[in-house]
Amino acid sequence: MNREKKKSLLGEIGKIHATYEHDVPVKKLNLPLEPGAVIRVFCQGCGTTFGLNEEDARGLYELLAYKTLGEKPKTFLGHYFETGVCPFCNGEQNNVRIKPIPSEED
Ligand SMILES: [Zn+2]
Repeated sequence: MNREKKKSLLGEIGKIHATYEHDVPVKKLNLPLEPGAVIRVFCQGCGTTFGLNEEDARGLYELLAYKTLGEKPKTFLGHYFETGVCPFCNGEQNNVRIKPIPSEED
């Protein structure tokens, strides 16, 4: 059974449906990081945010060399990753960017 057929019969079990209609959660991004996390990821697909540890953050950061034209910042501090897919949703846009966290006043 191919993947599309299976999907139409079973849906993506346990996965949030990615709508790509989520605003950047500025307040959440400005909260202190969870213990062990060095940066947050915001999934534009499903609106989920979650922290990454140093190792995972480095891995994602290395991917950016191929995916973005923008400059890579030297530090994770004050930045977040924006993605179009994450472990929690069925998003299929695997573009990753690293962006400065907007201040809450903006
Ligand atoms: Zn997601």
